[in-house]
Amino acid sequence: MPSFLSRPPRRIVVKLGTGVITSGIGQLNEPRLAALAAQITALRAQGSEVIVVSSGAVGLGMGRLKLERKPKIVSKKQACAAVGQSLLMQTWQRAFDPHGLTVAQVLLTHEDLRVRDRHLGVKETLRELVAYGTIPVINENDTVSAAEIKVGDNDTLSAMVAGLVEADYLVILSTAPGLIDMKGTGKIVPVVEKITPAIEAMAGGTTSETATGGMITKITAAKLATRSGCGVFIASGAEPDILPRLFSGRGPGTFFVPSGLPLESRKLWLAYFQRPHGTIHVNTCAVPVLCEQGRSLLAVGVTGASGTFAAGEVVNIAGPDGKVIARGESAFSSEQIPVLAGRKSDQVRALHPSRKHLEVVHRNDLVLL
Ligand code: GLU
Repeated sequence: MPSFLSRPPRRIVVKLGTGVITSGIGQLNEPRLAALAAQITALRAQGSEVIVVSSGAVGLGMGRLKLERKPKIVSKKQACAAVGQSLLMQTWQRAFDPHGLTVAQVLLTHEDLRVRDRHLGVKETLRELVAYGTIPVINENDTVSAAEIKVGDNDTLSAMVAGLVEADYLVILSTAPGLIDMKGTGKIVPVVEKITPAIEAMAGGTTSETATGGMITKITAAKLATRSGCGVFIASGAEPDILPRLFSGRGPGTFFVPSGLPLESRKLWLAYFQRPHGTIHVNTCAVPVLCEQGRSLLAVGVTGASGTFAAGEVVNIAGPDGKVIARGESAFSSEQIPVLAGRKSDQVRALHPSRKHLEVVHRNDLVLL
């Protein structure tokens, strides 16, 4: 654990898994929610803004509809979410009532985070909700989210939200006590400085009937959030007083150290909120040009394109081994790229005489992954 903190964090996103707020299938754990509401209120009293990401809609809906297994059919799952989401919000409001706080339901789809205008709109609304003194309680809008517009799990959603609101900390509370070093000490790893393949190998999925992610999605979320300069805790929501304990460095849980400087928000948007429409493939020489020299991608380094994309759409950039090294907005379409691939700038100019910029992906529109 980090020996913390000289002043209270400015902004914290707290994500609660289905297993934290329910016991059994779809039975609310009201004492747990009450305890967490009290801890969140205490964080606010010390001057931190808190935004909650709460799972549980599907699980609570299953409970109310007396289903023992999560339905496989999407529309049935969406129906469970519709039933459960209102129960979830009622419960959160009841939990915050004794503290005189009002909760605000915010339901998001991947589109709301991906489309830049909507993304900025969500950010503004969250800012207003916090300014009104409410506690935003966010969930994915499961009832209307078809697979292709879904974030899919609330760990990832919470990391996206943490990036969006520029949170200093993301706390992911679930039934897992932290990241466990199964093959080594068998104990919780207290601090992760860098998410290496060895760290990723420690993570498994979930076997719970109502939950979604497991440790794998938590590590992915930690990767996203630390990359945007946010410290991440993974800890058990069943531990008493877990939030103040984490923030005073007394654990138990795993702390992921934020990496480097925060990406500025446009790059963050490119990197994490976009789904790439295709891939631009580059040659061996282009890799260090992008990764080490921090320059734009020129046609001469390009070997081809896959997928179908228009100029201005977001694409992955992959090295000769197929590994995705960057993401960016392509200035050319997937049809134009094969014609340009491998050509020098004067040849590109001859093909596109009216263009001011000849880069295939300009540095300002590119982020390394
Ligand atoms: N949105 C889902 C729900 O409220 C949860 C997804 C998740 O836990 O990752 O049930």
